[in-house]
Amino acid sequence: MATVSLKNLVKRYGALEVVHGINLEVADREFIALVGPSGCGKSTTLRMIAGLEDVSGGAIEIGGTVVNDLPPRSRNLAMVFQSYALYPHMTVRENMGFSLKIAGQSPTEIASRVDDAAKTLDLTHLLDRRPAQLSGGQRQRVAMGRAIVRNPDVFLFDEPLSNLDAKLRTQMRTEIKKLHAKVNSTVVYVTHDQVEAMTLSDRIVIMRDGYIEQVGTPDEVFKRPATRFVAGFIGSPP
Ligand code: ADP
Ligand code: MG
Repeated sequence: MATVSLKNLVKRYGALEVVHGINLEVADREFIALVGPSGCGKSTTLRMIAGLEDVSGGAIEIGGTVVNDLPPRSRNLAMVFQSYALYPHMTVRENMGFSLKIAGQSPTEIASRVDDAAKTLDLTHLLDRRPAQLSGGQRQRVAMGRAIVRNPDVFLFDEPLSNLDAKLRTQMRTEIKKLHAKVNSTVVYVTHDQVEAMTLSDRIVIMRDGYIEQVGTPDEVFKRPATRFVAGFIGSPP
């Protein structure tokens, strides 16, 4: 059960507090979109869940276990960033298998997981190419492939599509939705694009200045925004 709970979660950088004790329960296999203006604390929150930032207060639980002091590799999650940083000298196959190799998986196991992931993401015909020979959308799919080969319980996305042009963004949205239906993991998806959030998620979390303003289904936040800020951000009619 890959639930994710944030309990009075606080983040400070020195004297500056940027996340002020937020609470959130993400259900097993739920797709949560975390939205809000630039600087409101989305990436910081995601990075704390991933274990890439220390927690200053409160707790993060994954599957009911407090993970505050666990290193990222012990959290059974995978993160996909906006800058997908593929290894340029490796083929797609090697890029996708790299983390499994580091983890000491056998070559047979690696090959089988990479092949499965490549099928899911329609990358089979590109496995022997290098990143320079791929389009932006294909590179982003490889970045997702790198994540899914690890069979994570939880997927974390930080604005994965913001480097892509509008047409490709729409296309990739559909792919992410299909991917979620197929691998059935819990997803926390950070975006500043409310349309992306509305189309992809089961529930939307709206953050502002380190606080959560509202949590609800796309329909709820659109039809019944809790605050003027939410209405403005989501684009609800006045
Ligand atoms: P978002 O992802 O919503 O745009 P961030 O989580 O990146 O916002 O940042 C939240 C706040 O924390 C911002 O005010 C940002 O300047 C600050 N911040 C982020 N990282 C650091 C850091 N390493 N040191 C100091 N302040 C930081
Ligand atoms: Mg960010």
